[in-house]
Amino acid sequence: MPLVHAVNVTKSFHHNEVLKGIDLDVDRGQVVCLLGPSGSGKTTFLRCINQLETIDGGRIWVDDELMGYADRDGKLYRLKNKEIAAQRREIGMVFQRFNLFPHKTALENIVEAPRQVKGESKKTARERAMKLLDRVGLADRCNAYPAQLSGGQQQRVAIARALAMQPKLMLFDEPTSALDPELVGEVLAVMRELALDGMTMIVVTHEMSFARDVADTVVFMDGGVVVEAGPPKDVIGNPQHSRTQAFLSRLR
Ligand code: ADP
Repeated sequence: MPLVHAVNVTKSFHHNEVLKGIDLDVDRGQVVCLLGPSGSGKTTFLRCINQLETIDGGRIWVDDELMGYADRDGKLYRLKNKEIAAQRREIGMVFQRFNLFPHKTALENIVEAPRQVKGESKKTARERAMKLLDRVGLADRCNAYPAQLSGGQQQRVAIARALAMQPKLMLFDEPTSALDPELVGEVLAVMRELALDGMTMIVVTHEMSFARDVADTVVFMDGGVVVEAGPPKDVIGNPQHSRTQAFLSRLR
């Protein structure tokens, strides 16, 4: 089974059906970019994978585990909150806004979850945090507070913080769209490295050059459905569907 296997996922808010039966497979080590106009359901779908939202229908497996439910004799039972929290720990998520703790340094932000949630020793957590800071190019800023860092640096710390939990899957929700244009490149460069290192990633983005260069699969969503999916050279380079064509031509 692929690392992520989502089948016919539906989700409504009140009477607004935002996801109308989404299927998605992501193989281990692959990068999938989700593209589509605002309101098409991309963020909601990511949040469903990470169980920040409860799905109404369909099923999502991550690493062979059914998310949120146990399947016993063909019947679905909702998992306990503790079990859901354990599943969520395996998935890293990076948001548009970095959400770092403002009163903690970069290093302290990164060690927080491994210490509190996994009960790691201070030494182990700090050693890994320093390696991760080095990996995102910020080892020399380990003692800086978020307010002393640029937006791009804060987002790189947020990526390191997610990686500190050693996730099997990373979700990125428009990680560069709140950044000044000159800071976008440094965050995308870190994400590229992560992809090259073999991390499985699902990335909601409007950065076409990133999608073209890094994604194994590009998924174009509109109106809560997958309109078109495939390698970037097809979906971006030679889109078949008129809605994909219209979306891409607006970006150019
Ligand atoms: P995208 O990421 O493609 O811009 P979203 O998943 O953010 O799309 O939103 C899809 C639709 O779901 C939008 O119409 C949005 O208003 C609606 N929506 C998202 N979250 C909520 C919520 N918590 N309550 C009500 N409506 C929501």
